Amino acid sequence: MLPTRPHHKAKPLKATSPRPAKALCSECGLCDTRYVHYVKDACAFLNQQFETLETQVHGRPRQVDQWNDCYFGVHQQMFTARNRQPISGAQWTGIVSTLGMEMLRRGLVEGVVCVQQSETDRFQPQPILARTPEEVLAARVNKPTLSPNLSVLDLVEQSGLKRLLVIGVGCQIQALRAVEAHLGLEKLYVLGTPCVDNVTRAGLQKFLETTSRSPQTVVHYEFMQDYQVHFKHEDGSVERVPFFGLNTQELKDVFAPSCMTCFDYVNGLADLVVGYMGSPFGWQWLVVRNDRGQEMLKLIQDQLEFQPVTSSGNRRPAVQQSIPLYDQGLTLPMWVAKILGAVIGRTGPKGLEYARFSIDSHFARNYLYVWRHYPQKLAAHVPAFAQRIVGQYTLPKN
Ligand code: FAD
Ligand code: SF4
Repeated sequence: MLPTRPHHKAKPLKATSPRPAKALCSECGLCDTRYVHYVKDACAFLNQQFETLETQVHGRPRQVDQWNDCYFGVHQQMFTARNRQPISGAQWTGIVSTLGMEMLRRGLVEGVVCVQQSETDRFQPQPILARTPEEVLAARVNKPTLSPNLSVLDLVEQSGLKRLLVIGVGCQIQALRAVEAHLGLEKLYVLGTPCVDNVTRAGLQKFLETTSRSPQTVVHYEFMQDYQVHFKHEDGSVERVPFFGLNTQELKDVFAPSCMTCFDYVNGLADLVVGYMGSPFGWQWLVVRNDRGQEMLKLIQDQLEFQPVTSSGNRRPAVQQSIPLYDQGLTLPMWVAKILGAVIGRTGPKGLEYARFSIDSHFARNYLYVWRHYPQKLAAHVPAFAQRIVGQYTLPKN
């Protein structure tokens, strides 16, 4: 029996209509489709349901008494890897694009949901349903802005595709998993990336103008494991700005409210996650969550070099010290920030411990944000695994 479809009268919301999640909307795209019918249940910001969805997708929820589960979600294996032949212009070595292209070439899927850039603005996302490897390749590199990837779900339905790969960040994948049974697909593969501190296009402009020496020539940036933001410019030069030197007062309101209330940094509902933060500089970090993720990785493993994941250092003092910096919007003089960044970069947490550092800092900041701005949502919205992580730290009392 085919799963139920959205009600025949369900219609996408108009672009100008308010979204049900109001200020917390991450523009995931679900409300731009007929699947808006399920929004109350499906929206990551209206209904936190990790336990239910993890059980549906991976066969079990994460075990909150196991630290590895708390931090990295349900998983079978983790690796450090990189493409033997990196894809030019990709965010890292292009493992995500390689896999998307390979799945199409081998006929495992008939289409890939991914996001290209608009013709006039490299940072303006343009979600597409790619049908060829060339279209997937053209979607390489992050568009570091909120992207309505799920807006192409109606197109998927109209195209009659039965086997689909979706590439996306946590909030998009939470909504996707909630409507998965209604999509009429035979097989859905989900390739996730971690995601944090995303912004609207206007917010991105402010971030670039506040932080980079040449905002108009930035083609790519990343918050790196050496505690610096690396901006790559059109001429190939790399500008490094220490995290601790960011103008936090100016940047306080730059991140989207959705990202300030998100606890799905590691994309817990994807089959396979490809990021960087659990691996040494230049390498990518792979988290295989389930058998479908294993099936995906197997397809491209001959094209990759592997290393085991490692972990060293102690993140706790650095996280505890960073809480007031974030919280009170303190900005250190640049020379102090550079020294601090260099010292922590040399002696601080590395590998998985760096990933924990980043998760802890963001979860503590986000917990305080929800507590102050949405106290009525705190109990239901903050999942148990995040509460345990935040519970390791002393937070401000007001
Ligand atoms: P590529 O081969 O270059 O492919 C990139 C893929 O990302 C494309 O398929 C494209 O469809 C998709 N994509 C681009 N922009 C978006 C978007 N806005 N929304 C959804 N999908 C998009 N990893 C970490 O380990 N730690 C982080 O803190 C972290 N923050 C991130 C923040 C954002 C906003 C994004 C989009 C990604 C983030 N990542 C983070 C993931 C990381 O930056 C790389 O995207 C990932 O490692 C894949 O690299 P790649 O070279 O294999 O990707
Ligand atoms: Fe709709 Fe997605 Fe916004 Fe939630 S986050 S209101 S599902 S577009």
